[in-house]
Amino acid sequence: MPSLKYQIGDKVMGRWPGSSLYYEVKVLGFDGKSRLYTVIYKDGTELELKEQDIMSLTSFQVRTRSRSRSNSRSPGRRRSRSRSPARTTRRSSSRTAAAAAASAAAAESTPSSRGDAKLKQAAEVKLSPMQQDKATENNSNDKHQRKEENNTASKVNESGANVEADPEKNQGRYNLRRRKDDGDAKAAEAKSEEEEEVSAAPAPAAAAPASTPLDFGGKMGALFWTLFLPAWVLFLVLQVNQKDPSLANFPPALPPLEAFWDPQALGFVVLWIVFQALLYVLPVGKLSEGVLLRSGKRLKYRTNGFFAMVLSAAVAAAAVYQGVDLTYIHSHFLQLTTASFLISTLLSVYLYVRSRSAGPDERALGGNSGNVIYDFFKGRELNPRIKEFDLKFFCEMRPGLIGWCLINFALALAEMKQQNLDMPSYSMILVNVFQLLYVVDGLWNEEAILTTMDLMHDGFGYMLAFGDLVWVPFTYTLQANYLVSHPNPLSLPVLAAIVVLKLVGFYIFRKSNSEKNAFRRNPSDPKLSHLKRIPTATGKSLLVSGWWGVVRHPNYLGDLIMALAWSLPCGFSHLLPWYYMIYFIILLVHRDSRDMNECRRKYGSAWDEYCRTVRYRIIPRVY
Ligand code: NDP
Repeated sequence: MPSLKYQIGDKVMGRWPGSSLYYEVKVLGFDGKSRLYTVIYKDGTELELKEQDIMSLTSFQVRTRSRSRSNSRSPGRRRSRSRSPARTTRRSSSRTAAAAAASAAAAESTPSSRGDAKLKQAAEVKLSPMQQDKATENNSNDKHQRKEENNTASKVNESGANVEADPEKNQGRYNLRRRKDDGDAKAAEAKSEEEEEVSAAPAPAAAAPASTPLDFGGKMGALFWTLFLPAWVLFLVLQVNQKDPSLANFPPALPPLEAFWDPQALGFVVLWIVFQALLYVLPVGKLSEGVLLRSGKRLKYRTNGFFAMVLSAAVAAAAVYQGVDLTYIHSHFLQLTTASFLISTLLSVYLYVRSRSAGPDERALGGNSGNVIYDFFKGRELNPRIKEFDLKFFCEMRPGLIGWCLINFALALAEMKQQNLDMPSYSMILVNVFQLLYVVDGLWNEEAILTTMDLMHDGFGYMLAFGDLVWVPFTYTLQANYLVSHPNPLSLPVLAAIVVLKLVGFYIFRKSNSEKNAFRRNPSDPKLSHLKRIPTATGKSLLVSGWWGVVRHPNYLGDLIMALAWSLPCGFSHLLPWYYMIYFIILLVHRDSRDMNECRRKYGSAWDEYCRTVRYRIIPRVY
């Protein structure tokens, strides 16, 4: 970088976004297009900063010294400090975190920093040493508060006030911490603080990285998955109808081309999606707020999924009552799959085209590599919306998920028809009820999806559009589809054992997801005050006890146990109905490593601390 002010490897002082505080950072790179420097803080956090937010160590020291001299010489300033009740040096526990930040901003109101006071309220940070072992593990809120008060030593600000001896000598490791975190223990104050954050938060987009490292095998991987996934769905759909769906009989014979296409099937899929869209826009149910976006805003979502499910079930029941033959879904499975694939591909093209006009704040960090295929696959825009209609949220939760239950129901009817039964087999009932419970639970707790990776981090592109509209409804129904022509009688003890397994998995899954969701929505929730946490540089904390202290992804563990309970009713004569279990292990292991990388990038050393404390990823003492 010959013509640049700062070079790679330079140690400089970097301003923390939205505050007037500077920390020592190392320059990692420079992007000529955005003219942003990538820097790394001591706690491992990487950010992109503008040149004006960086100072050389020497100019910072000169500035600091001259500021502290002028501060100490100004009696007027000292008097005014002592007169102001807001300017106490020690925080009182009864003050809100926002008030504390405001008073800190006032205390530092040099002419140059006065304009930053509002920003400080939202995102002021201070450098507080983190204790390495026991202190973190026993990180109760009280201890946290005390520890922080004892460690005001390390605060450094632009005005040079309170510059103290290098705390590294004491602890060796640091955690950048916003004052917002102080609110974790104060239930009553949390809401207003959170609200303040929405209105006053600076747009940190300019300081955030523009994209994250490529996953899924990079550009070639994205091309591979884009082609392979539909081929795999086709394989499963063709294979499940074979008399002997053994993998040894692979590949099944391809049907003639015209067998893939039926305009009526396309019409039904379109009708289904439109019906679900209508239910989604009905002004029924709660308007839930999503997580805080990089733009500093929160989006609102109509979380009426349970209502949509009930109404859809009523319509399906009425249709059967009126003599509509739902076994059409079984007999036209291939055509319905093709139609859904066509729709998901068209939707992905639309999403890619419209993402070109999305602003930097609106793009997903993972889907903006600049490579067309990769970005098409991963999704560029984080929350594409047509007015208030959120395309990603809708596709994630409605047509595919509710469609999964409708298809399962139709497959149970097809089983009765094909095997001349008065009622579906026990195996079919178990598969139907288990999966219905999973979907109904997801829709009942629909708000919880707002804090999942798909909603928070992944852009909406082919990966999710295909996953939501094709993969979920046409491959998650494989067990029921298999049972239509491959009966597997179950004895009552086996049935009971499978039910118990399902309930155990469901309990772990639901409790852990709800715990994290409640914590992310309101860290000060009194119901969660017993949980230990690790503060991070971003202002969010990480749970280190409760479910999230057992393994790093307790929700995946519960989900995997449930997956096992879904496959067991199909018996062991073929591998095919176990496909979901195998696929799900691969998916969740990969998802876990994606999430680990993402969290490592976001939380730096705080994440390492978490991983040291909670050693296993998904299965205690195994993995
Ligand atoms: P999670 O719900 O596990 O979300 C991961 C995020 O949680 C992290 O990025 C981080 O985000 C936050 N987090 C991680 N550790 C902690 C902690 N210790 N304390 C607080 N927050 C933490 O991920 P998924 O979206 O993958 O899964 C959601 C559910 O959906 C799971 O139950 C999963 O099994 C299920 N699922 C089901 C699928 C299916 O096809 N059936 C497919 C995929 C998922 P941040 O810190 O930014 O808040």
